[in-house]
Order: sequence, then structure tokens, then C-alpha cells
Amino acid sequence: MSIWRRLSSIVDEHGAAALVALHEVKGSVPREAGARMIVRPDGAFHGTIGGGSLEWELLREAGRALAQGRGPARFVGQALGPDLGQCCGGWVNVLVETFDRRDAAMLEALARAEGEGTFTVVCSVGPEGRVDRSAHSFGSHSNPLPMKGDGKKWCETYGARAAPILLFGAGHVGRALALALAPLPFAVRWIDPREGAFPPHIPTNATPILTSDPEAEIVRAPADAAVIVMTHDHGLDLAITAAALQRGFPFVGLIGSATKRARFERRFRDLGIPGARIEALACPIGLPGIGGKEPAVIAASVAAQLLQERERRGASLSSPPQAGPEPLHMTTLTPDDHVHLACAVALSREHMERDAGGPFGAVIVRDGKVLAEGWNRVTSTNDPTAHAEVTAIRRACEAVQDFSLSGATLYTSCEPCPMCLASAYWARVSRIVFANTRADAAAIGFDDQLLYDEIPKPVTERLIPTIHAPSPEAKSVFAAWDAKADKIAY
Ligand code: ZN
Repeated sequence: MSIWRRLSSIVDEHGAAALVALHEVKGSVPREAGARMIVRPDGAFHGTIGGGSLEWELLREAGRALAQGRGPARFVGQALGPDLGQCCGGWVNVLVETFDRRDAAMLEALARAEGEGTFTVVCSVGPEGRVDRSAHSFGSHSNPLPMKGDGKKWCETYGARAAPILLFGAGHVGRALALALAPLPFAVRWIDPREGAFPPHIPTNATPILTSDPEAEIVRAPADAAVIVMTHDHGLDLAITAAALQRGFPFVGLIGSATKRARFERRFRDLGIPGARIEALACPIGLPGIGGKEPAVIAASVAAQLLQERERRGASLSSPPQAGPEPLHMTTLTPDDHVHLACAVALSREHMERDAGGPFGAVIVRDGKVLAEGWNRVTSTNDPTAHAEVTAIRRACEAVQDFSLSGATLYTSCEPCPMCLASAYWARVSRIVFANTRADAAAIGFDDQLLYDEIPKPVTERLIPTIHAPSPEAKSVFAAWDAKADKIAY
């Protein structure tokens, strides 16, 4: 259910609406935090926070709030148990808010953001006791607003993630495909190197990218993107398709005949692309059995193929996990991961805007508890090691009075540089989740490729002249440590 779209239309039609959300949950509860219900002034409601007496109690609370008119948000703590006729033994903190036509612009902005895909808002309670959601921090948004408020903050996530597509080529078929994809749950990056290639009106789920380096888009695309290649130039088709196959996206489609495929296949093999990836290439493109060559027909067929692919992957995601050395949550993202990562991203923006340093933020979380936050403070503290992750690691260790953060996850707005990565290993962090890649960082002037290149070099070949000067005293300190009976190993 689209929360903000529905709230917006109910407020428009009925003058007011209440939003009831499970804000925090502990123990055994019928639904997860973030479960939401929308209540109309006439008592009708959409969604569920788990049913039972709790739901009826909260519907009454929403009715009371609506009767009093637009006012401060209410937090209602409620233990679940026999007195509520509920068999669950947990506890919930429920947020009840009311909206009326004065909120129309805010509701519309959030509805639009929700329509574009997943997004997270950083929330705080404003001066009138109402929830301030002006800080979009994550997901697709065209005009992010600055963070506000220093009080209690939390994150909320809304919207279904649109499946990412890279569409190369804005010719007749590319244009028809962009139109066919317009109403579908896809987020399209539409790439063409030619000035004037794009039509004047672009679907809202498509972002036109005019670039002379289309292959760079392959490098920075999310790993689960589908890639469709239909440019004006065979050479470009070959280069882009090869780059996409090399990166190993789950779906790569190329427009063209079986003859074109055979010719390209030889080139791909010469480039050393694994045979299985070449075989999986969709070329000719589109669903089998649809032979029409009109751009709109090809477009409909490819759009259907992309939907089929999306469902197939959705099905494989929900199949039982394979047995392995690591629990599933170590390598898959949970809704909580998205929230903590969004907080790290929000920190990066907030402190960049306050001129603390570069645009980087980090959060360290263990067992659902935030141990520390960090952001880049290099230029404000003249500390070249004050990267966001190092700052967060220092603060987290201070907070837990331990040099080990075993069991913790490091959320960072950007892939850690070698120093921060090493710090995470030294701190025994169990998991790292990042948003921007090091390629993204390199593109805005933070290139740590040099460091990656330096590490494997022999000492004598490094850029900073490094000289080995043996010392008996240094050796004897080591021997003393080795023999020290009360040492604390780390
Ligand atoms: Zn770093």
C-alpha cells in the first residue's frame, strides 16, 4: 500500500486522516515496526497493525485524535498480554498522527517520493510536537531538503524499490521502450552520447544521461541492474555489451539478429568473457514468438521480458536459503540495514553541510543498538585519519569500553578506503554495508586506487621511500612482549 498517496487522497476527499504506525516493538508482537494503518474521520481504515484488541484500541485512539483536530503526534506505549486479549507477550510503542488540508503539500511531496521507489526519511519531533519529515535522505529524490532539528531522530522507510534498468540508446526503439516502461515498477537510467538524442518529454521513472562515456554507467550501476543495449552504433553496442557481460549483471539484452549475435559472440570469447555469460545474453531481444519489427511491438515484448525476469528473480529471492557457513542475514540486506544505512547517508549530508569535512557518514550497530555515529572530520579537526568509519569505530569502542566490535555491523555512506577497511578488520567488525562505491568516490575526487596499488608492492617500490633499518633494541622489545605474562592480546 502506498501510505502517503493514500493519506493525501483521503485528506483531499475527507478533510483529515490519521496515521497509526508501530514505532518500536519488543518481544513477541503481531507485526514488525513500521507496520502502518490509515484511519479516516468516518472510522473506515486501510492496512493493519496486526489485528486483535490492539488494533481496535488504536482505532479508537486515532478516532479521539481526529476528533480533536490537527495536533501534536502521540506516542502510545502498550504492553501486549492477557489484559488486551492478546496472546503475544511483547510491547509496542505506537505513533499516532493526524493530518488535514494544511498538510496537503507535504503529503503530496512524500507521495511523489514514494511513487519513485524506496526512500527513507529522517524524522524528528518539531516545536509543535508534530513529526518533521523534511529530510529525505535515501532513495530517489530530485530535490533533497537539508536536515533539521537536533532532538530525537529516527528513520522511516517507505515505498517499493523499483528494479534498476540501464537502457542504452535513445533511437526509435529506445524511445518506444522508455515509453513502454513508464508505468512499470522500474527505475530507468537512459543513456545516449548524442546531443539532442532524447525526446523533450521523459517518463518520470527515467533519468536521461547524456554522456560520452556510456561504459562508466556500467561501472557505477547497482549489481542487480538489467542492461538493455540498443544504440545507434554496432561498435558501441559491442563495447557496452562486453562491459556489461564482464561485470556479470543478471540480465543483459542486446537488440539484433541471430547473425549479429554470432559475430559478437566470437568477439566476447576473444575478450575472455565466460561462456555461461555469453550464452545467457538475450539476443535477439524480447519474448520468443513475437516477431514484429515495429518499435512499439519490440518495446512491449522487451518490457514483458523484463517483467518476467523481475518476477523470476523475486521468486528466487524468496526460495529457502542454502545451508552455508554464514547465516543468511550476514550477506543479505534486511529492512533494518536500509534504515541504518540511510542514517549513515543522512550523517554524511548533515556534516558535509556543516563543513565538518568530506561527504561521508558511518553508523555502528550491534544487536539492533546503535553504538556510535561518525562522520568525516578531516578538515575541521586537521586530522587526516578522522574518516567517518574510523571516527565511528573509535566512538563505538569508547562506548562499549572494548577494543573489539565483534558482532557489530559498520554502515557507511561509501565503500571504506584501505585505512578504514583495515580499521574495521582490527576492530573485528563482523559485517560492512556501504552505499556509494569507491568508483563513485573517485569520480568526485576521492581516489584511493593509489593506496590499493601500493599495498601489494614490495616495500622498496612504494611511492613513499621506505627503508628497512634493523635495530637490536626494536627486536628486544618484541621479545619482551612475546615473553610478557600479563599481556592482553588483540
Ligand atoms: Zn577512510
